[in-house]
Order: sequence, then structure tokens, then C-alpha cells
Amino acid sequence: MIARVSLEIALRKEFDYFIPPELEGKVDVGSRVQVPFGPRKVLGCVTALAEESAHAKLKPILKIIGAQTLVTPKVLKLARWIADYYCCAPEIALKSVLPEAIRREEAGWRERLFVRAIPVNGEFPKLPKRQQEVWNIVEERRELSLSELLELAETTATTVRRLEDRGLVEIAPQISERDPYAREHILPSQPLPLNPAQAAALGKITKAMAASGAEKGKRGKGEKEQGGGEDSTSPFSSAPFPPFPSAFLLHGVTGSGKTEIYLQAIAHALAQGKGAIVLVPEIALTPQTVERFKARFSSGPQQTLVAVLHSHLSAGERHDEWHKIRQGRARIVIGARSAIFAPVEPLGLIIVDEEHEHTYKQEEVPRYNARDVAIVRGQMENAVVVLGSATPSLESSYNTRKGKYTLLELPERVDNQKMPHVRVVDMRQAARKEKGNLIFSPQLKEAITQRLERGEQTILFLNRRGYSTSLLCPLCGYVAECPNCSLSLTYHRPEQKLRCHLCGHIEPVPAACPNEKCRNPAIRYSGLGTQKVEDTLGKLFPNARVKRMDADVMKRKEDYRKVLGDFRAGKIDILVGTQMIAKGLHFPNVTLVGIIYADLALHQPDFRAGERTFQLLTQVAGRAGRGDVEGEVFVQAFTPFHPAIQYARRHDFNGFYDQEIEFREQLKYPPVTRAALLTVRGHNEDKVKFSAEHVRKELDKLVAGKGKGAEEKRGKGEKETEIVQQPDSPLPLFPSAPFRDLIIAGPAPAPLLRAESFYRYQLMLRTRQMSRLSQALAKIVTTLVLPEGVTLTVDIDPVSLS
Ligand code: ADP
Ligand code: ZN
Repeated sequence: MIARVSLEIALRKEFDYFIPPELEGKVDVGSRVQVPFGPRKVLGCVTALAEESAHAKLKPILKIIGAQTLVTPKVLKLARWIADYYCCAPEIALKSVLPEAIRREEAGWRERLFVRAIPVNGEFPKLPKRQQEVWNIVEERRELSLSELLELAETTATTVRRLEDRGLVEIAPQISERDPYAREHILPSQPLPLNPAQAAALGKITKAMAASGAEKGKRGKGEKEQGGGEDSTSPFSSAPFPPFPSAFLLHGVTGSGKTEIYLQAIAHALAQGKGAIVLVPEIALTPQTVERFKARFSSGPQQTLVAVLHSHLSAGERHDEWHKIRQGRARIVIGARSAIFAPVEPLGLIIVDEEHEHTYKQEEVPRYNARDVAIVRGQMENAVVVLGSATPSLESSYNTRKGKYTLLELPERVDNQKMPHVRVVDMRQAARKEKGNLIFSPQLKEAITQRLERGEQTILFLNRRGYSTSLLCPLCGYVAECPNCSLSLTYHRPEQKLRCHLCGHIEPVPAACPNEKCRNPAIRYSGLGTQKVEDTLGKLFPNARVKRMDADVMKRKEDYRKVLGDFRAGKIDILVGTQMIAKGLHFPNVTLVGIIYADLALHQPDFRAGERTFQLLTQVAGRAGRGDVEGEVFVQAFTPFHPAIQYARRHDFNGFYDQEIEFREQLKYPPVTRAALLTVRGHNEDKVKFSAEHVRKELDKLVAGKGKGAEEKRGKGEKETEIVQQPDSPLPLFPSAPFRDLIIAGPAPAPLLRAESFYRYQLMLRTRQMSRLSQALAKIVTTLVLPEGVTLTVDIDPVSLS
């Protein structure tokens, strides 16, 4: 027998190996194997088995890693789709579906000896130097593998055994599973009786689950039938795309009881003998969120393990959680982005909470969006997918309007509370009256004073950390910029440093203007960050207890928990923060939310700027009035009449959608089309620019009626070429047929031309036939020869355009 193996070193190629007699019957599709490759031994994944190979003199597979096949054929298929759609090497896609802790050779339960610190009772003994050094490591790490310890401490097992003899550490094979939540005491919860809107939504979901259970095996055919045209497994394919009856968009305002629906839908999946995956944004993976799921399913008749996958787990914990799923003992998985690859089998339900969140997009290769992968996986495995949000993405809303997904709505809060009253404050007026830089309008100041008097809490939101956002000389116009990025440096007052928020560059604050010819000592700070808000609050309300929450102060998970705990306990009056505080937090005593500078996100050079602003304002406003007292929200803005702000003020999602989609239609931006962002980067700007022009020429060949001579047709300085769009024309039969609707823009300097000392030029492509474009791009990426030091990256359905 022959095994076809995809090697971890990306070669965009698979290799045949023969299965030696001793491994006969043990190697399967999805097995992790070690194979010889030249003089090296490398790891790979079996992607197919065959009777014979076209190649002679095959080398043997050396060994199998892990007792079970690690990649199920279904996940393997998903990885292939990712490689195709997101235009990356299959090896990379395959790699991303397995957590690092699972891929590595030594992964496995039985073989690993772990060293664990044992709590010391009484006095700590005096240790010889070597032992003390080893102990220091164990104490700091609490638990680590023996092999890692030996490496770190440069010592032998004997020294570690000495510590064991003293009762300071325990050395044991890790058969016992680690449970990252073992210390939490979780009380079981019961399903709540649903209100009519919830019941209606759940009814449709369970009906689809019943149907997909019955239809098992019927689907799957026809998936390949449209070869050459659009891939029907893509949720983004063009015109002739069948509706996907088991994808739902659950649009429910914050506090409308979405999570309760998730819980009951999961119970339904379990009753069908199937499992579920729940995706939440990393930031929302708080113990409280996990607890709600564990509480419902860790006891009672359907008792099952709930596995948790996210980046804060240790490698060991991740390994164990993953294998609990693979062995079928944990039927429910809750996790961040990559949990979409969890080997749940059979899979009945996928939930993507806060589906509009941009953290579902991976910003490195493979640049997949877990929300979209969820739809594809659901379709491949006949599972129901529920996307939930209080502020759905335009993409998902568009899909419901087009009949691809079914819309479920929860228009009211469970407790019948009113939506908070939102007031927009015109900061231009306020600034005229007050003169000078204004952080708090008189209205907001007054509202904060009231809250302090009444003992209620306030949240103030500003999505920018630091003290001042730029350092500027009023005489010569000098602006302190990062030497590596085209970005101005932010002033951080506590450390008296200027910092780049992109690459982390730090420099001291100059005493005078650094411009040799100027040397003005009266250099000025301008712009506003959370530190300055905190500072100013201290001056305005000296008796208020103020706490700031942003990436500068929240270095560890515990910090975050602590501040939220204090806030909940009423030990903090005013919480100031960045988007860290915008999401999912639920505090009954918060009756006021102030958005300091609402138009901040509007000024981004991004077609989604309005959408982002609308989502952010709605989410932040949703933090007010979750208790008995009605909430109030002040939105301070310099463009108070911007539609994103006005629709958010009225809690009018549909109004916002209609005007925004019109704008996207006009300019043919997603979701009306699909976009691909090509970035050419390198240290030498001329080379980068030249290469980008070269890429443009290759792309022009894809367009009908273009190719040779296209260059002349383009007017001077005109970067955008538009070919008449014919969305309803039949699909071209051949992949090489020209694109009729392809729009190519660029090359143009990226909004941040220089980032981390790389120059970047971008091209933006838009089409309705993204799967086909991906194929074409893959060809270009693999064949194009770029000058040394210049790279080209492809981002399909990009989220970040900077
Ligand atoms: P969302 O996920 O939409 O923000 P949640 O599911 O967290 O909303 O619900 C908000 C609150 O209402 C929670 O405390 C939840 O326990 C409660 N809740 C949800 N559904 C019901 C219901 N049918 N009856 C009573 N309370 C409910
Ligand atoms: Zn920088």
C-alpha cells in the first residue's frame, strides 16, 4: 500500500511513501507520520491511500504519531477548501487545523512525564544550589514536562528526583487530564422557559436540525458538479447558488437571550447524538462565558464534557482538551477562532457568537475567517450553523436578504427593559463655547456628576490608548514619527515615553523640538488617549474612584478579572477603557455610558469605517441600563449627523443597513462583491513599487478585453479599471475564461505605507467569482518571480485594509 503525504514544509506538493509491513493497517487518511525527506526526517499528514504509485523506489513511512488519526477526513476536506479559497499552500492550511501541541511528535498522553510543584507546608527547606535552580523553574511554571525542565535547567533527571524525594515536586506521567477550569465551582443550571420570540427562533433552528439529520447522506453529491465554475461549497459564490437552509443569522439586541437559545439548541444536538462547536471572540472567552456552558451540560441527564480551546491554555491543557474531543468524550467545544477545526464527530451544530467581530479573521497565513469557514464546514458536514449578533455584519445581513441564510430576530430585551436613551452631543458647538481642547462636554460632565451623587456607575469609552496621540512642534511642524512605520508616535505619560502602537518602538520624550534648525522648547502634544481621559477625570472629580482598562494596564488575564470584579462589586465609580470594555460585559449598576470621541473610527481609510462605527456605538451603548434604572448614553462627536452615528442613536439597524448597502452597491464593495487584497512588501520602496506594477500587469491578463495594450488604455493616474458587470451571465466554463466583472484598483501605497520598516503597496480586486479568482491568484503567486527581498501576500475577504 502507498500513502500520499503532505509534508509540513510547504512545497505545494504531495509525496508518495510506501507503508512498511509493520505499519500495515495502521496508517489511514489523516494519520500524522514521520517520513524521510532527503537526509532529513520530517512530519506530515496522510491525505490519501492508494494501491500503487506513479513513482518508483518509494521510501517507507518511518512511524505514526499518535494512536488515532489526528485529522479526520472531514477536517482534511475543510483544510483543502481553505487552501483553495484563501489561496495558500495546502500544507499551511493543514497545519492550521491542528493545534501546535497536537502536531508535535512528542504529543501524547502516556509518554510524557510532568514535574509539578507541590504546595509547601511550613518552612521551605534550604536547598543545594543546583536543586534550588531547578526548583525556581518549577515554582515559576508550576508544572512542565520533565524534558523541558531538564533542558531549561541544564541538569539531569537525578537532580529532579532529589526534589521529588524532598516532597517538593511530583513527577508523574500525565494520564490524568488537566482541566483548565478545575478550580471553578460551577453550579448546574436548568433550561429557562423561553419567551415567544426565543421559542420561535429555537423552533426554526431545531426544525432545521431535524431535517439535516434526516437528509444525512443525500447532500454531498453535486458539490463537485460545477467544476471549472464556482465552487458550490463557497458561501460567497456567484449567482447560481442554492440557498443554504441550515444557516441562520440570529439578530438579537444585547440581553435578548441569544445565549439561552444557543444552550437549548446544543441540548437538542446532544439529544440527536451529535456535538456542537461554539465560537466566541477571544476577548469574550471569559470564565463567565465558559461557565454558562459548563453549568448547563456538566450535570444532568445529558451530562457531557465541555472542552475549551483558546490561546491562554498551556500546551498540555490544549493537548488534553483536544484529545477529549477527538475521543468523543467532550461533545461540546467552546473556543476562539481555531476551534472551528475541532474534531467533533458527528457535528450537529455550529454557533458563532458576535459573528461581526473581526477577530474571527486570522491575520496571518492562512488568512481564513472562522465565521465563513463555519458556514462551509456546516454545509460539508450537514450541520446547522447559527451566527449570532446584536450588530450583524453587512456580509451576513446581505446573505439573509438574498435568501441564503434565514434571519431570526429577537427585537427586545428579555426583561422588557427599554433600550438606553442615546444623546448625540455636537462637539463642534461645545468646543466653540468652551474654547480649546475639550474632552468632556458640559452635558456629559453634568451626567457624570449626577451618577456620582446617586451612587451609580459610569463607563467611558475611547478607542485609543496612551496619553496624547501625537507630539507636534507648532513652530516648524515637526511630528514625532516612528522610524519604522509611517505612523505618529503616541505619548505615554506614566513612563514618559513615546511609543509606536504598531511595531512597539519606544523612545524618550524630547525636551525640545528635535529639528536641528528649530529646537523650540514649547513642543506640544495633541490628540487624546485613555490616559488623558483618566487624568482629566481625576482633576474634574477628585473624589471619584476611576479605573482605566486598556492594553497598557491589562497585561495579564488576572488584571482584567480583577478590575471587572471590583467594578461589579461597586469599588469603582468610573471605568475608562478601549474596546476591551465594549463587549458583552453586563453590569446592572451602570446607568451612564459616555463615548468620548465617536467619530474616531470614521476617519479610517476603509470602506467599512461606517459599519465599524455603527457596531461599536451600538455595542458600547448596550452596556448602559442593564439593571432596573433606565440607561443613558452620551455620544460625543464632531460629525454628529453622520448616518452611522444617527442610526446607532435610534437603534435602527435596518435603516443603517439600507443606506450602507446602497453605498456598497454604488462602489461595488463587499458584500456586493468579494474583495482580495494583494500586498507587495519589501525594504526598498522602488523595488516594491515596480513589483506591484508588474503584479498589476499579470492581473490585467485576467480581465476580458485586457491584457496586452491595457497599459495604454489606462489614463494617467487612473488606478481603477472597471469592466461592465454582468452578474447574471452564465458562469464561464473554463477557468481560463476572462473575468467579466473583475475590478482592479492599484497599485497604491498602503494606508500605512511603511510598517515595521517594510514598504507596502496594495492592489484591491473585486469580483463576484471569488473561488475562481482565488485559483487564478494561486497561479500568479506560485509562478511570479519577484525581486529578492520583495514578497507578495494575498488576503481573500480582507478585514484589515491598512
Ligand atoms: P444575549 O446573549 O442576547 O446578550 P443572554 O442569553 O445573556 O442574552 O440573556 C440575558 C439575560 O437574560 C441572562 O441573564 C439570561 O439568563 C436571561 N434570560 C435569557 N432568556 C431568558 C428567559 N427566557 N427567561 C428569563 N430569563 C432569561
Ligand atoms: Zn513603528
